[in-house]
Amino acid sequence: MRHIPRKADDSVNVSKTHPLVEASTLVAGLGLIFLTIMIVLIFVVEIVLYFVPEKTEVELFETWLPEDIVTVSYDDPRLVELESLLWRLSRHWPETDYEFRVEINDSSEMNALAFPGGLIVVTSGLLEKVESENELAFVIGHELGHFRNRDHIRGLGRGLAIGILFTAISNNEGGAQLGATVADLTLRGFSRRQERSADEFGLWIVQQEYGHVAEAWRLFERLEAEYGGTSEIVALLGTHPSPDDRSQSLIEIASENGWPVSGEVTEIGW
Ligand SMILES: [Zn+2]
Repeated sequence: MRHIPRKADDSVNVSKTHPLVEASTLVAGLGLIFLTIMIVLIFVVEIVLYFVPEKTEVELFETWLPEDIVTVSYDDPRLVELESLLWRLSRHWPETDYEFRVEINDSSEMNALAFPGGLIVVTSGLLEKVESENELAFVIGHELGHFRNRDHIRGLGRGLAIGILFTAISNNEGGAQLGATVADLTLRGFSRRQERSADEFGLWIVQQEYGHVAEAWRLFERLEAEYGGTSEIVALLGTHPSPDDRSQSLIEIASENGWPVSGEVTEIGW
């Protein structure tokens, strides 16, 4: 029997699907895997961090500062006043293991943020807008509320998970550094529920300190009147509800709890 050689079929290894379709399926598939790993990692890291006791958190972050803040001199009158106010307010929460610290970030942005280990950072831009101690007390009280609910730890989990993944992809050792910068914390933002809960605690602290909540939300009314709908308060809006909604919800919280909305207002010292 004669063997008749047949020409090999060149197309056996060629897919019948268009290469572009194949490429996009591959990219989408990889993207999906990446996203799944990311979500699982965030979830795991956040749960683990949530069970780190306050004491351990304080020890870990005792002297830590975000990389991108510009601190002011330790005898800056604003810092001196902030420190004494923070100390007075935190006395109303004696059960905590946090040893709170405050720093001013010399930036024109308006913001106040809670960082791991009990650090509160307030910007010069925000301090410029504050007209009474009562307004400032609420800003600080709100951040204390985030510590009480340990919201900042959950945010840190997200930052850490993202850092770990970036290291895995880019092989860049700096990527997974423990800690966060103001910029990446700003991206994290808290949920409405977390914000509302921090507002309730903050207002409760103000009520404990002054016996009323007068002027607690006046700062937000002023910001709304001055900047409502503009990008000047974009940093604040990235991490907090809009000043307009905020005043409304604070009025509600005060009335639900029967806290007096008028009373003697304390001047700011600087
Ligand atoms: Zn907040």
